[in-house]
Amino acid sequence: MASVPKPSELGKVDHRPPQKPWTETVPEFRPGTFCYGAKAKNLEVVGLPNPREWNPADEDWKLPDDWKDITLKGMKDRLDKFRSFKLFMDICVRCGACADKCHYFIGSGDPKNMPVLRAELIRSIYRNYFTGSGKILKKYAGARALTEQIIKEWFYYYYQCTECRRCSVFCPYGIDTAEITMMGRELLNELGCGIDWIMGPVANCYMNGNHLGIQPHAFKDMIMFFVDEIEAVTGVRVEPTFNRKGAEVLFITPSGDVFADPGTYTLMGYMMLFHEIGLDYTWSTYASEGGNFGLFTSHEMMKRLNAKMYAEAKRLKVKWILGGECGHMWRVINQYMDTMNGPADFLEVPKSPITGTVFENAKSTKMVHIAEFTADLIRHGKLNLDPSRNDNKIVTFHDSCNPSRAMGLFEEPRYVLKAVCNHFYDMPENTIREKTFCCGSGSGLNTDEFMEMRMRGGLPRANAVRYVHEKYGVNMLACICAIDRAVLPPLMNYWVPGVNVTGLHELVGNALVMKGEKKRTTDLRYEPLPGMEEEEETEDV
Ligand code: SF4
Ligand code: SF4
Repeated sequence: MASVPKPSELGKVDHRPPQKPWTETVPEFRPGTFCYGAKAKNLEVVGLPNPREWNPADEDWKLPDDWKDITLKGMKDRLDKFRSFKLFMDICVRCGACADKCHYFIGSGDPKNMPVLRAELIRSIYRNYFTGSGKILKKYAGARALTEQIIKEWFYYYYQCTECRRCSVFCPYGIDTAEITMMGRELLNELGCGIDWIMGPVANCYMNGNHLGIQPHAFKDMIMFFVDEIEAVTGVRVEPTFNRKGAEVLFITPSGDVFADPGTYTLMGYMMLFHEIGLDYTWSTYASEGGNFGLFTSHEMMKRLNAKMYAEAKRLKVKWILGGECGHMWRVINQYMDTMNGPADFLEVPKSPITGTVFENAKSTKMVHIAEFTADLIRHGKLNLDPSRNDNKIVTFHDSCNPSRAMGLFEEPRYVLKAVCNHFYDMPENTIREKTFCCGSGSGLNTDEFMEMRMRGGLPRANAVRYVHEKYGVNMLACICAIDRAVLPPLMNYWVPGVNVTGLHELVGNALVMKGEKKRTTDLRYEPLPGMEEEEETEDV
């Protein structure tokens, strides 16, 4: 991993425009600012073209001989297929409303990280080959001929966009630069120019059902490990089932919850909740991943990875699917699922077996977000909660980009948080809900070799956390996304030391008073509950 400059250095961002026109500047592939290229073995697993060993920092990218034809044909196919792509290529009026809304521009000062200019990287090629004015007037119409250098520029900047869609909120025309980045990445993948941090998980998911490549027996073992952990903390033994046909609900969460702290504490929270309400649910050791790095690769790959969740729901004959705390999983479900693999008519419209609430918003996808499910339980008074168990946590909430901007999930997590914590403070209004700032590491960019850009891109999010940290003493950042749970801890350590990161259902698990539980002295992290510090010390002795 390249060393990251100190925060005092990285915080000095130069936003002055460069001397040369943007068409004459070329990216410098400096360690810390780009991701490693996709490995041949991973491209082969998923059948993507041009598998070879290559390095984006090398001069020769070993592109196929007909790389230009492939790219232009790929653009034509997509312009014909996706009306939104054609529209976004045509309608930008360069008003600049989006320019300063991207966290990567704010944190890097690089003009090509302005959404308007990021889109222009591909729009200029569109003009040159697909518009009359561009064909005739060339650079006077903002057109550029496609070169290998431009392929490298695309790679650099389309993997410096987290597809977060914040810019689209501010665009008067609704231009969604994330969709343009997705097209850019699709075209790059047609040349074998993806990044390995995405292609590795995609290949793993293809082979083993989850991004981490964990095989079914190991997946089950990990969940059973957390059954023991729950029992150690609460005295209650929960009893999950696996691949059980005829269960009412199939529960799917990102594999990060099963294998990486602090997501694992959130996993414990889920299982405690399900046990307490007597939910008839099953895990699948085959559809063992809610995340979908196909979204960051191509529409086709997203469809392929999404299909397994529904195939498994069909095989197990469940009624509906409950989904865990994930970010981009919900964008796939809410934005794309219906026209990719749905509608899932073989499932029933989700209905809470505990409250009777019918989740009309999920009547097509048949999949409910756990924050909605838990908020509904609390609203109906079905949970016995003791929020004082979280009294040592002064909490704020990071709206993950996808649940907020792709499904409008703003109030339910806050409603749950306020029920399970006594100390909750929102960050400033222009940094939350629909206007939330990205963690800086989404869309498959959460890799260590990209750490400098991750810290740069995470600066606006961190600044808002710092505000509530200094004003209210906030020491816990809650989120409902597995990537966030993995990437916000290093971001906080870098910019706002003293703030920890948690999932929503970790806090639910702490506050949940379970039937038959022993006197609880610690939270799910084995840290003393407020007021229990002395008892813990006595037990240690
Ligand atoms: S989608 Fe997000 S990361 Fe990409 S250009 Fe827009 S604001 Fe920046
Ligand atoms: S806000 Fe929309 S129209 Fe204005 S420059 Fe950005 S993308 Fe173009």
